[in-house]
Amino acid sequence: MKRILILGAIVVVATGGVLAVVSRFMGPPSSRVDYPYVCRDCKAVFPLAEIKADYRNYRVPKGAPSDSIVHCLRCNKGWAFPVTKCEVCGTERILYLCKDTRCPKCFPEAAEAARKEGVNVLFQQP
Ligand SMILES: [Zn+2]
Ligand SMILES: [Zn+2]
Repeated sequence: MKRILILGAIVVVATGGVLAVVSRFMGPPSSRVDYPYVCRDCKAVFPLAEIKADYRNYRVPKGAPSDSIVHCLRCNKGWAFPVTKCEVCGTERILYLCKDTRCPKCFPEAAEAARKEGVNVLFQQP
């Protein structure tokens, strides 16, 4: 009985060690997340990774509805918005461009809100 317990303990420690090594190798999950940003003004598209590469890139414009919005890395004055993918239908939309941030394909109310605000939240690859 004692032997089995010791064996069990060894297995637990070994698995834990492997997991720790693997997770260190892969890095924390948040650092692997990447999605595009699009500038509302100059239409430039650049990856989140590029903003993350330098903390000085985190310049939230005054009056921005979310602190996920940053000054465009290309034109330096436009507002760049994060692009997200709908988990249900896969449509890529620009977050925070419209007050209603839901997917316009899945929620007709969101599409209607965007139409009223005169914005197009659908993201098109340049
Ligand atoms: Zn720009
Ligand atoms: Zn959708």
